[in-house]
Amino acid sequence: MSSSHRTAAPGPAPAVRPRAGQRARALAALWCGLALWWWAPAWAAGQRQVLVLYSLGADSASVWQTLVHRGMVEELAHQSWGDAPGIFEERFDAIRVGEQAAVDSMPPYLRTKYADVHLDAIVTENYLAARFLSAHPELFPGVPRHYVNHGRRDWRPADGDGYEVLSDFERAIGVIAQVAPRTRRIVVVGDQTPRVQEWIAGVRAVVPRFQRIAFEFWDDQNFDQLYAKAAALGPGDAIFMLATYRDKSGAKGVPPEIARKLAQTSPAPVFTHVQSLVLPGIVGGYVISGERIGRVIARLVLGQPADMGSAQDFVFDYPSARRFHLVDAPAGAQWLNRPPDTWETYRWQIIAGLTLIGLEGVLITALVLALRGRRQSMAALHDERTQLEARVVQRTLELMVANTQLEHQATTDPLTGIGNRRKMTEQIGKELERGRRSRRPLALLMIDIDHFKRINDTHGHEVGDRAIVAVARAVTDGMRSVDLVSRFGGEEFVALMPDTDLRVAAVAAERLRADVAALRISGDDGVQIALTISVGVAASGPRGTPDTPSLLLVRADKALYRAKKEGRDRVVVG
Ligand code: GH3
Ligand code: MG
Ligand code: MG
Repeated sequence: MSSSHRTAAPGPAPAVRPRAGQRARALAALWCGLALWWWAPAWAAGQRQVLVLYSLGADSASVWQTLVHRGMVEELAHQSWGDAPGIFEERFDAIRVGEQAAVDSMPPYLRTKYADVHLDAIVTENYLAARFLSAHPELFPGVPRHYVNHGRRDWRPADGDGYEVLSDFERAIGVIAQVAPRTRRIVVVGDQTPRVQEWIAGVRAVVPRFQRIAFEFWDDQNFDQLYAKAAALGPGDAIFMLATYRDKSGAKGVPPEIARKLAQTSPAPVFTHVQSLVLPGIVGGYVISGERIGRVIARLVLGQPADMGSAQDFVFDYPSARRFHLVDAPAGAQWLNRPPDTWETYRWQIIAGLTLIGLEGVLITALVLALRGRRQSMAALHDERTQLEARVVQRTLELMVANTQLEHQATTDPLTGIGNRRKMTEQIGKELERGRRSRRPLALLMIDIDHFKRINDTHGHEVGDRAIVAVARAVTDGMRSVDLVSRFGGEEFVALMPDTDLRVAAVAAERLRADVAALRISGDDGVQIALTISVGVAASGPRGTPDTPSLLLVRADKALYRAKKEGRDRVVVG
């Protein structure tokens, strides 16, 4: 491959010199000049006019040109913004009008059409266009010529730069052995044209490097024979298809059609070395890439140095690769006709969906944890409340017991165990009220031990206490269960008799008096002490004035006083 590069950028625009006294204008002019100088190359590059001559051969207007054109357009779009060059494209319609007619008609056509067009460069895209242009040095005199992919080995054009595309056949064959490791025979299909023979020579040169593979070269038969032989191939065979144009008889063919027919008739996989032949049914291989050549042309169109570098790529037809169970395809290979991959097509939707699901999961987990925590707190709270309630109930009960005890203590005489004065006063009030409502009488006995001081004085205080206790029991025992007996003072008792009138009360009092008189208290020295009581009886009745506890008590007390006065040990009814 030979190459050269040429810069087409024009020099800076002439500077404007300021005159004296016009500094402002001069400054503005300077700025304009600088701006012009800055933009001039891009502006000038935008004015580039380039003619691209596409191939003249049998595959003109074919897949190949489409690939080259696409590569060129993509590279131009990538590189140039606002400085797009003017591109003229011409094609030789050799298939339809005949090669000779196409070639013959082209010089006058180009001369006439481009008479007034200033071209900065002409680029040929393929070997037939290159051959045409080099055969016509009189066309476009002085315009730089770039012969891309001229197809002649070691050819250096006399009137321009040549960019030869060489196939790396070692890799092109090597990839067959790699992806179809069971291949034992490779059939190289071609024709007798010098260009194809050059390729065949290239393949032959690398044959010794593939020891385990047998090679056959089918470059001299009729198309019918070719297809028949291809149909007879079997397992372990592979076809390496070079761009083929004609057969032994001179019959012309179009390489893509020949390749397609081969693939249809042969059971063996068809590999190739040129991208335009990677069609549905043809496996592909390490091929000269039309797109890469298009990119080289784009750089020449832009006036940039062009480097052919590697013009080959791994390109495979996806369905064919699957059909022949190819393995171990090189990384970075280009796959044609590949059904859209769900992951690639919906990657972002899938990622977004999964992210959402993940977020939802996190939220739900957080929610569940929060709920669980809440439930635990609620349970703890419930336990706490239950315990509290239990404690409250217990305390209330304790309080009630304490209250009852207090109440009992407050209304009970500690010495005798019977009610005290307070209890009696309350009870008199209640019974008076009840008697008023039921119009029933209420009797009250006031009892006082006679000469009690003497007992204390004679026998001691403890014996006195025992006497008080004995009288209290005797009085309590002598009363009905509905009656209430209280210790009202030191040795004074009051008995309250509901539903009882004076007469009955007097009888009861008399019985009590007799009971007590019969009592004997044991003194410390074994003496039996007798004692008596005096009783004052009072009652409230339906005919009486409205009574109060104190009125009733006063009446009883007066009666008691009289009893004492009249000699004691007696009952006096008030
Ligand atoms: P009277 O016949 O006039 O009632 O004569 P009395 O000695 O009983 O006189 P009074 O009722 O006034 O005296 C009561 C005495 O009772 C006075 C007090 O020393 C004694 N006393 C009061 N309370 C108690 C007590 O709890 N225990 C003892 N041992 N004596 C008491
Ligand atoms: Mg007394
Ligand atoms: Mg007394």
